[in-house]
Amino acid sequence: MDLLEKIVSLSKRRGFVFPSSDIYGGLAATYDYGPLGVELKRNAKERWWRDMVYRNDNIEGLDAAILMHPTVWKASGHVDAFHDPMIDDKASKRRYRADELIERHIEKLEARGKEEQAGRVRERFLAALHSDNMPKELHRIILDEEIRGPDSGAFDWTEVRQFNLMFETHAGAVADDETRIWLRPETAQGIFVNFRLAQETSRQQIPFGIAQIGKAFRNEIVARRFIFRMREFEQMEMQYFVAPGTQMEHFEDWRERRMQWHIDNGVRPERLRWHEHEKLAHYADAAFDVQYDFPMGWQEIEGIHSRTDFDLRRHQEFSGKKMEYFDPKRQEKYIPYVVETSAGLDRTVLMLLCEAYEEEKVEGEERVVMKFHPEIAPVKAAVFPLVKRDGMPEAARALAADLREHFKAFYDESGSIGKRYRRMDEAGTPFCVTVDGETMETGAVTIRDRDSMAQERVATEHAAAWMKDRMKAWRRSA
Ligand code: ATP
Repeated sequence: MDLLEKIVSLSKRRGFVFPSSDIYGGLAATYDYGPLGVELKRNAKERWWRDMVYRNDNIEGLDAAILMHPTVWKASGHVDAFHDPMIDDKASKRRYRADELIERHIEKLEARGKEEQAGRVRERFLAALHSDNMPKELHRIILDEEIRGPDSGAFDWTEVRQFNLMFETHAGAVADDETRIWLRPETAQGIFVNFRLAQETSRQQIPFGIAQIGKAFRNEIVARRFIFRMREFEQMEMQYFVAPGTQMEHFEDWRERRMQWHIDNGVRPERLRWHEHEKLAHYADAAFDVQYDFPMGWQEIEGIHSRTDFDLRRHQEFSGKKMEYFDPKRQEKYIPYVVETSAGLDRTVLMLLCEAYEEEKVEGEERVVMKFHPEIAPVKAAVFPLVKRDGMPEAARALAADLREHFKAFYDESGSIGKRYRRMDEAGTPFCVTVDGETMETGAVTIRDRDSMAQERVATEHAAAWMKDRMKAWRRSA
């Protein structure tokens, strides 16, 4: 089993992530977060919110509706241009993104040392992406390079066709063109259309940001790889409004800060890298992705984009409402430029799961342990009575109740202590607290550290503070 398969299986077994509507056989590319997964995801979300909205007095939060006025998506360009170029392998009947097939082909050539050929294909690929006849050009490259179906090995392709990724629905009783609306394919537009209201009510001055976490929907044609690519997912986006001409310094600043955030969540720096966009959207003047070294290769988890004044200008045009800002320092009016940080919450969770997963041999036995950063871990502490008598269960329950005032704690009295430890290792619980005979005499419990498995005696009344200190000071062991 490869790492991703192990994580999919652990996720279902332990309650991180389930296939959606599992009793009906699941629904493709949709997933539900179980009891552990929902905590993990909330912790990631809360750290993002704290880092954006609480730590910066010039970033405000927002929670816009998923359903928006249909003109929003005309102004944003999504109705006309939110397409993916798709191609079908007639042999396997599987569908692929044509651009991804070519990118993978280029990477393979490079890995085989065929730099010159890779360079040539890359040049053609970039020209194709910019051409008015993109599907045809991509198709030609696939044929000329004899790129084969990744699953079948066959060379039997259809044409390349464009698919719009937005989910359509209707507002009200009548389903016609007049009532057609879309589920938002990104959270960013909710921020842009509220720019004026949010700025005026918060009295923020440029530069300032608006942050939002929420669901987005894309009818992804090729949706595989677990929660990496879903049809319903969550984004954490912050749009930073800046004066024209200052965007590059803010862009660099946000790049640094966003990379640091992932590292602060316990992700090893060597498994993160920058990827510069080869093809800039026509309105962008800089774009980098943060990529993580997933089991299936380097893939995007977050994009940092310098979007110029494109979005606000388009909304000004389509709505007829001014999107200008009067800058008191410059004494001039302008449409602000935007630096965007756009992270996928589910991809972040998948990265945290991949990063945490470890198999170790302990006294001849294998243990699976999820080495989450303790502040991200779904459950912080588990409390066990050593045996189910002599007042230990009562003392352990009382301690668990105390700990719950601080963080999520779990009481468990069933099975041997060894079994209880293993269950908590798989859940990634950083601390296991045992109430034993000595506790009943001295009031001190033993706390076992998930990573080192070392045990320490700590006075019961200091247990919560002791764990909090350890959580803050946590560093990943090699
Ligand atoms: P990709 O190229 O992988 O489709 P994208 O460039 O279209 O991603 P953006 O539109 O920049 O992605 O969205 C910002 C972030 O939202 C991405 O970095 C990713 O983490 C997340 N995201 C986008 N699409 C999905 C999806 N279908 N499932 C889960 N997360 C997604």
